[in-house]
Amino acid sequence: MGKDAQGSGSAAANAAAGGHESSLFQTYARYPLSLVKGEGSWLWDDQGNKYLDFMAGLAVTNLGHAPVKVKEKLKAQLDELWHVSNLFHIPGQEKAAALLTANTCADAVFFCNSGAEANEAAIKLARRYHQKVKGSGRYEIITFTQSFHGRTLATLTATGQDKVKEGFLPLPAGFLSVPLHDLPALEAAINDNTAAIMIEMVQAEGGVHPVEPEFLQAVTELCKQHGLLLIVDEVQTGMGRTGKLFAHEHYGIEPDIFTVAKGLGSGFPVGAMLGKGYLRDAFTAGSHGSTFGGTPLASAVVAATIEAMLEDSVAQRAAEAGEYLTAQLQEKLAGIPFVKSIRGKGLLIGIECAEPVGELVLEGQRRGLLFVTAGPNVIRLLPNLLVTREEIDQAVSILTDIIHAHTAVNQA
Ligand SMILES: *Cc1c(COP(=O)(O)O)cnc(C)c1O
Repeated sequence: MGKDAQGSGSAAANAAAGGHESSLFQTYARYPLSLVKGEGSWLWDDQGNKYLDFMAGLAVTNLGHAPVKVKEKLKAQLDELWHVSNLFHIPGQEKAAALLTANTCADAVFFCNSGAEANEAAIKLARRYHQKVKGSGRYEIITFTQSFHGRTLATLTATGQDKVKEGFLPLPAGFLSVPLHDLPALEAAINDNTAAIMIEMVQAEGGVHPVEPEFLQAVTELCKQHGLLLIVDEVQTGMGRTGKLFAHEHYGIEPDIFTVAKGLGSGFPVGAMLGKGYLRDAFTAGSHGSTFGGTPLASAVVAATIEAMLEDSVAQRAAEAGEYLTAQLQEKLAGIPFVKSIRGKGLLIGIECAEPVGELVLEGQRRGLLFVTAGPNVIRLLPNLLVTREEIDQAVSILTDIIHAHTAVNQA
């Protein structure tokens, strides 16, 4: 061997041991844990320690880890066929799409592999609809400050946070962000080039901020008035997370386009862009595509995930569990000055604190509870949607202890 190749040991283990450099680009500030097994709400590390998982792979494992109903369908598909090109009909992909259109306001689906790709597809569809169907040449997409739409060049440009753009200039043209809930700013931003408005129902990465119903209503009216498409990014909020299959259902609106990824495959990488029937003509053969979009394997997982969600009323259960978790947090954290507000929808919950919460995340890990942040001061809780009341009680108890201990230390 010409180089000092490391045959064993995870990147985390190597880094933790202060040993050889990882073979990975260091795009993540990784926690000092290597998780190797998961079941339901629980994860185990390579030392045999057990963790209650209140982050669900960042809103991905909505049915818990290794959900039986999905696993059975995946295993059956593994024995049949893994991949064929989208140059052929893929019956499983048709089935997955039909399940999505039957249970949403959308009429057509494009499958891809991630949230960013789903948003790319949405941006491309919006531009192409205006340019090819309407013949208008419109291209600009208006998004909102503190939004998050992905890491490809177009989607990081759409993202309303400067930190994801640093060092990647020049950015593609045709994107503009205005502050969320600032109607005059939005109205002022709309011009003859505007093609679409893209919005999250709950800004998740940006700090768990649900959009206000009156504002969203005004956005939909502006779209109608100016002939703009409304794109809703449901990459994180979709698939039952907020207590409905898709979060826009809470608001009684029908987006022209919406995107989904994280929870769509129960951990299998897959994304989708969904749209209204009148957008069909915008994409013709060859105008967009993806080698891996909607393979037989991915499609089997998507269909199994949706079927399991419908059979077991998972969105309803998420709504109930979310209400219970929020009520418990409100009760147990009441009167602690460190806790500024508790907000969210369903099982996408943010606890805004007075100071940065990174240290609390690490303390949670030491006490066997996994959760994440959403911006520096917000604790984000994302348990799987089948989480039990006992598990919620356990998590709230650990979290309460951690916050009490943290505030006691800070006062001392
Ligand atoms: C995670 C996320 C994305 C990006 O998804 P990837 O699968 O990481 O590309 C886009 N939008 C929202 C709202 C997200 O939460």
